[in-house]
Amino acid sequence: MNRFVSVGLWVLLLGAAGVWWWQGRADHSNHAQSPDTSLVHGNFERQPFTTPTQLPSSALEEASLSPRLLELNQQGLQALANDNPEAAVGLFEAALEMAPEQPILLGNLASALVAWAVVVQQQGDVSSALDLLARAVAVNPHNVVAYYWLAHLQLRSGQRDAAKAHLDAALANGLEHAVLLRMRADIAAVEGQLDLSVEIIQRAVELDPTDEKLHERAAQLGAERTMFATFLTEATAHFDSRYDPHDPIIVAALPQLNRDLEAAWQDVVSLLGVQPQDRLLVIWLDAARYRWQAPEWSAALFDGRVRIVIEDYAREQQTIRRTLRHELTHAVMHTIGSPLPTWLHEGLAQSAEGSNGQTPSATMLLDGPNQSLLQLDGDWTSWTDRAQVTQAYLYSLAFCEWLRAEYGQSVMANLFLNLKERSFADAWVLTFGASLTVTETSFRQSVKNL
Ligand SMILES: [Zn+2]
Repeated sequence: MNRFVSVGLWVLLLGAAGVWWWQGRADHSNHAQSPDTSLVHGNFERQPFTTPTQLPSSALEEASLSPRLLELNQQGLQALANDNPEAAVGLFEAALEMAPEQPILLGNLASALVAWAVVVQQQGDVSSALDLLARAVAVNPHNVVAYYWLAHLQLRSGQRDAAKAHLDAALANGLEHAVLLRMRADIAAVEGQLDLSVEIIQRAVELDPTDEKLHERAAQLGAERTMFATFLTEATAHFDSRYDPHDPIIVAALPQLNRDLEAAWQDVVSLLGVQPQDRLLVIWLDAARYRWQAPEWSAALFDGRVRIVIEDYAREQQTIRRTLRHELTHAVMHTIGSPLPTWLHEGLAQSAEGSNGQTPSATMLLDGPNQSLLQLDGDWTSWTDRAQVTQAYLYSLAFCEWLRAEYGQSVMANLFLNLKERSFADAWVLTFGASLTVTETSFRQSVKNL
């Protein structure tokens, strides 16, 4: 598809790219290449274990331990089995007061802390989950699951350096586990360290040679390393900007592209009220290299790095500026901690692009196939109905614009702040003084009254 046929359509499809990539699903356009689903952040969302693998031990048979201590441990195990990890933590802690260094009790406490953290993060309180996981690895530095979840939530919260430090500590501590190695290799790739990334993923493959996903990822990272071997990197204030020094179009445009990047960053950061600390890798690619891993209809992808195709810079400059704002919005929103609904992602990413001068009619917004935001929460990428996709983007944008007009420009910053320790529903009520459903009803009413 010629991406310049229609700006609206192009924006529409581009918009899908970030979501598609993140969720690792097929796109909705039917004709795009089948995406590799294993790249970078997508796999952080996959859980290697649904329950702790280091099962609490009941092997407290040493004669020196008091019956009371054995009873507390047994009750703790029972609480864990009953899905009450919070109670289990209290019971193991009580047992440890009687035998502070008892290794089995410490192991059980760590498992209970991890189980509690998983529950808490599901409820939206990423901040408390991180505290619990930090305690778990301190109590038992051999708990692979604790390290996995700690690093996973830190990555989701924009704390890449901390995640890296914990994974490196775990690996240095002898926890050579394929899941931890895979995550560390992906971080190295996100940071553009492809030699390191390939070395680490190969260690993971050796540990778990039957895992086909690991083989695929290793092959992909190896191919990337070859492709980017001759690329150079320029550092700007917030980005590592990577390019092929033999590409005359990109080399000539690079100084302006880097200025555009920083300008886009300032706009996005002020729109969202969030200032991530992690540097972002941006890779400028010609069409052939870009298409290697991207759907044919897209012009930019965010997969932990931003990849952008540059074909005819003189013609594309304004479009690229919008693209950068769109993709950087996704990038920043992926540092907030909890996964956010698709309508919020796409609404704000389009807001960040700036107005395209078109105001959709009430009919376009309200009478299409989507009847409420609830339908726009999850994955849009499997949709095949073009009208549904079009309306979803329009509706999301209009709702986000209305929120900012109605509640003030800083309202998104408030929402993201409130989200740190709460579920999305609770943070919404705290920010907007009403449930999402009630807020949406007001929005629809205002559209009808226009
Ligand atoms: Zn998007």
